[in-house]
Amino acid sequence: MRVEVINTGSELLLGQVINTNVSHLGQKLLSLGLKIERQTAVPDGGIIKTILAEAIKRSDIIIITGGLGPTPDDISKEMTAELLALELEEDVQILEKIRKRIESNGSKMRNINSKQAMIPSGAVALTNNNGTAPGIYLKQSISGRKFHVFLLPGPPRELNEMFTDSVEPILKKIIIHNDGSLIECKNLFFSGLGESELASRIDDVLDLNDPQVEYGYCIKPGGIIFRCIGENSAVLDAEKRVTESLKDYYLGDGINSIQEFIVTTLLLRRETVSVAESCTGGLISSLITDVPGASGVFNIGHITYSNAFKNRVLDVPNSLLQAHGAVSREVVISMAEGSLMKSHSNHAIAVTGIAGPSGGCPNKPVGTVFIGLASKGEETLVIKKIFETDRISFKEKVSMCALSLLRQRLCSLS
Ligand code: ATP
Ligand code: MG
Repeated sequence: MRVEVINTGSELLLGQVINTNVSHLGQKLLSLGLKIERQTAVPDGGIIKTILAEAIKRSDIIIITGGLGPTPDDISKEMTAELLALELEEDVQILEKIRKRIESNGSKMRNINSKQAMIPSGAVALTNNNGTAPGIYLKQSISGRKFHVFLLPGPPRELNEMFTDSVEPILKKIIIHNDGSLIECKNLFFSGLGESELASRIDDVLDLNDPQVEYGYCIKPGGIIFRCIGENSAVLDAEKRVTESLKDYYLGDGINSIQEFIVTTLLLRRETVSVAESCTGGLISSLITDVPGASGVFNIGHITYSNAFKNRVLDVPNSLLQAHGAVSREVVISMAEGSLMKSHSNHAIAVTGIAGPSGGCPNKPVGTVFIGLASKGEETLVIKKIFETDRISFKEKVSMCALSLLRQRLCSLS
């Protein structure tokens, strides 16, 4: 079924209001197995009639938002009735409801308010619990082609509740009576491969020209989402092929970041993590604690920037710091194992590096970083990287690399 949304309101095009209605509708429709095929934002005024005339020729379900208010710029209902040659009839019950609502707010019913009780003939009025304007549902047909038009209020609070209470039940009935297949959407999160590498490996296992599925890529922290949206069975088939052939990199459907995967996995495993950070200054801990539920897995972040506190807080031996320097394989192992011991966590990440712009030397240039991971009962892992970049990007790259190391260990343990 082809679904089209028309958002009305000059404020949307003037950049004064962000069109959150379309994102709300997109998500709600997808959960019903419907996808918005086309969306248009139009200013207030007669243009709505022109766009609706085009929409009814190509779409089965048309949702118009905004323009149901009492003021003269709100003419969505009038334009729709005019286009479909429907009379507007006063609904006395709705008029009474509007009067009560206005008077209960201490205001006076005015002539222009009665405009909201005018309903196109044959339409179903949809209850608005948060405002005066009822929504409108119209089932129409032109030259034997059926289509459905919904007119919903612009204010999100009014639209959202009306959609759930009144529009969804109608759409569910429309869907049941329609034999076309529903839309499925998968957001498959991959980590550990660059975008081009991932795309070419997916290219090997999928027919990207299949008209039944639309594919897309979206970069996320620590990974990439490969989105498949389209006909139900074709999407499930694509998901199976891709996840089987790239199983070492696949982290799950609907995950939005590597840290989300880590928190979710640790929660499932009933395990905890601590972090000993030097050059990232707390960013790794911050990323982990961005995820809801982090309190169930995150014990402590030690931000030990100076050598003295690496020793005092994490028990890194001074002799080790002197012999190898703070930025070394030996020190990062000691930091990770010190953090593990102090926090009694299952895993401890540690990082120590030279963010620059000064502080480098020939055998340890600016950008050098050692990343360690200690886990109870497992060998401590260390990787060395060189990220030649500015301090902020350095911190971000090191943090992602450290989280990837934990991700790899969690995948290898499961
Ligand atoms: P009202 O009775 O408030 O006039 P209405 O149904 O006529 O309701 P509009 O006049 O189009 O709706 O919009 C009213 C307000 O709702 C806007 O000023 C804006 O704050 C919000 N709004 C409208 N459309 C959208 C949208 N697409 N996304 C987010 N907010 C919106
Ligand atoms: Mg209005």
